[in-house]
Amino acid sequence: MLAAVAWVHLSRDPESLANLARGYPYAIFGAGALLAWRFHRSRVVAAVLALALAEALLRLDAGGPAQIARTAATFLLPAVLAALALTRDRGVLTARGLTQLAVVLLPTPALAMLLRYQEAQATQAVPTALIEPAVAVKASIPQPELLVFAVSITVAASVAVRRRKAVEIGFLWAVVATCLALSASPGGAVSTVYLMAGGLVLGLSVVETGYSMAYRDELTGLPSRRALPAALAELRNRYSIAMVDIDHFKRFNDKHGHDVGDQVLRMVAAKLARVSGGGRAFRYGGEEFAVTFPGKTRDEALPHLEDLRTEIEEAGFTVRGRRRLRKKTGGGNRRSGGGKRLTITVSIGVAERNGRNTTAERVLTAADKALYRAKGAGRNRVSS
Ligand code: GH3
Ligand code: MG
Ligand code: MG
Repeated sequence: MLAAVAWVHLSRDPESLANLARGYPYAIFGAGALLAWRFHRSRVVAAVLALALAEALLRLDAGGPAQIARTAATFLLPAVLAALALTRDRGVLTARGLTQLAVVLLPTPALAMLLRYQEAQATQAVPTALIEPAVAVKASIPQPELLVFAVSITVAASVAVRRRKAVEIGFLWAVVATCLALSASPGGAVSTVYLMAGGLVLGLSVVETGYSMAYRDELTGLPSRRALPAALAELRNRYSIAMVDIDHFKRFNDKHGHDVGDQVLRMVAAKLARVSGGGRAFRYGGEEFAVTFPGKTRDEALPHLEDLRTEIEEAGFTVRGRRRLRKKTGGGNRRSGGGKRLTITVSIGVAERNGRNTTAERVLTAADKALYRAKGAGRNRVSS
């Protein structure tokens, strides 16, 4: 707000306000950097500031220094952004965070200054391609720029594919945006548009991460309990809700340890995520899951839940020994290559919306009661 007030009041000349549009990219980079800072994403802070640096360098008035700055940015910025994607986020104002920032922001101006100095000394000392990218582009095949771009995009893409996280995917697009901006003709608005897009993608990747953290369960990848009210509010007229609970899970945890228990939760969640009949699964808490069936009566949902129950029972679970021996083929219910096969079962209660249970909350409570009936009747069954 202070910046806005200062901008409006300190600029006497109305023309300069008309030039406000030129500040847009920096407003985006600034917002992106603040957002990333708030979420302790030191890499994103550094990356967004690198885009702002690129914007500043590409906006230099035409001439020798502008071209040198462009060359330095071309050879360093995509590579530095890709390298940043490989690292991890640190606290922004910690030694490591500030080092990331310095490693990203300092080399480009340093190289630009070095190139300028060398140019002043003897132009021949610098390879032509380094100071005149425009010439190099015409000269085809072994393009140093294209090589830098290709390597940077490949590295960023491999990190994005391996980690599959919003921020890493954001980094991939930021590298692509930077390469596009650096390939655009000098002095035009095209490079600004690409850099702004890169900044927006990075900022949104931080927001996206925050959303996942709030609404997705980290252990199982299923939507979390927090996502349930919104899903319940979407249910209309005809629907059913099921509650699923793993049988004797405490005993299992006590015997095999919490880590193995977590693996079982992931296995069960993976089956729940693929439940048939249009069911949507949520991790309700602990070893309990809720499944909504929009548009389905209880009787219509039942066969899908019965399939789910048998699938989990038949899948079983192999507890590996500490030494993690290679899994061998064969082996029945006993040892098979160092793993002990255990059967996991779940109990399920299901209820539908009807004259008595008119709200989603009531249907959920009825499903919970049905679940306890399933437990009481001996577990590993579906009750309604
Ligand atoms: P029942 O058949 O009656 O459902 O028995 P149960 O042992 O499954 O039920 P109970 O509610 O007594 O125990 C649930 C256990 O689930 C308690 C806790 O140790 C375990 N648990 C809850 N959340 C997690 C988790 O995130 N990871 C692991 N490993 N265990 C969890
Ligand atoms: Mg249980
Ligand atoms: Mg339970």
